[in-house]
Amino acid sequence: MSLYRDEGVVLRAQKLGEADRIVTLLTRDHGRVRAVAKGVRRTSSRIGARLEPFSHVDVQFYTGRTLDGVTQVETIASYGAALVHDYGRYTTGQAMLETAERLTGEEGHPAVQQYLLLVGGLRALVAADHDPGLVLDAYLVRSLAVAGWAPSFDSCARCGAPGPHRAFSVSAGGVLCTSCRLPGSAAPAAETLELLAALLTGDWTVADASEARSRREASGLVAAYLSWQLERGLRSLPLVERT
Ligand SMILES: [Zn+2]
Repeated sequence: MSLYRDEGVVLRAQKLGEADRIVTLLTRDHGRVRAVAKGVRRTSSRIGARLEPFSHVDVQFYTGRTLDGVTQVETIASYGAALVHDYGRYTTGQAMLETAERLTGEEGHPAVQQYLLLVGGLRALVAADHDPGLVLDAYLVRSLAVAGWAPSFDSCARCGAPGPHRAFSVSAGGVLCTSCRLPGSAAPAAETLELLAALLTGDWTVADASEARSRREASGLVAAYLSWQLERGLRSLPLVERT
């Protein structure tokens, strides 16, 4: 039995039998890992309390024949405790965990950038320095970009002609110039595209100063783009309460 250590964020915890739990983590060096934690549902288990969704943990795993197992867990941060009393932020966090699971491909493949984005996003959500909807949309556009689906909010997504452009096409992956414009493209406000570009690059001065209607329009476009790329919408996304 070989052991390895990694840090990760618990994305999901499922019951297994009477006393065990299967946890899905996004780890720094091993990407997405599903592992069994034995005996953790007994009330005396300290490991169990540390393996709830949103927990940022340092874990020692052992390699198993089908599933790896968890032997030791140390808490780095428990974002769940900070989010659980705020329904809006909690559902926002759920959408982030679900996106992280969907956007990290095969298990065991390193996904360092996705991991760092998730930790950064959860920290920002808990710190409450920015509107949670903006934190979510920044996380979504950036994790889509890391997954290889970077949307273009400035140059034409088809021919590369420098912007600004008026048409936005989900299927084309961004804005389109007048020659490339596809039927059925959206025509978002210029401020909305500026906000989306700011979220993608992490320009919080621009993002924090944005108007509510730009945020609403940007969220709609991000959700449509994400759904297009994932082929079906995220289950938790419609639950996110936006103010
Ligand atoms: Zn074009």
